[in-house]
Amino acid sequence: MKSSQYPVQDLRRRALAWAIKLKVNPRVIRVQEMRKKWGSCSSSGTVTLAIDLLDCSERFQDYVIVHELLHLRYERHGRMFKAVLSAHVPGWREFELRNREV
Ligand SMILES: [Zn+2]
Repeated sequence: MKSSQYPVQDLRRRALAWAIKLKVNPRVIRVQEMRKKWGSCSSSGTVTLAIDLLDCSERFQDYVIVHELLHLRYERHGRMFKAVLSAHVPGWREFELRNREV
């Protein structure tokens, strides 16, 4: 990953760019310590991303970002959810084995 003076802002910017691309409208995107998850999405539209993502590859970041943003449109990991995820992050299933929830 490119080094930046503001890695947290960069991650948020990346998530905002995805939100535009996916045509979803998160109320707020925050980056914070999370121990058991890589990210979460509340029903009120708050998307939270684990700060540890800064140490992960951009592809994995994209996977978690797209996954959480898609929860603004689909509550469950159903067929449509997985189809849209596959369209934007091909090969995402390889990430399923990482030992945290998304
Ligand atoms: Zn999920």
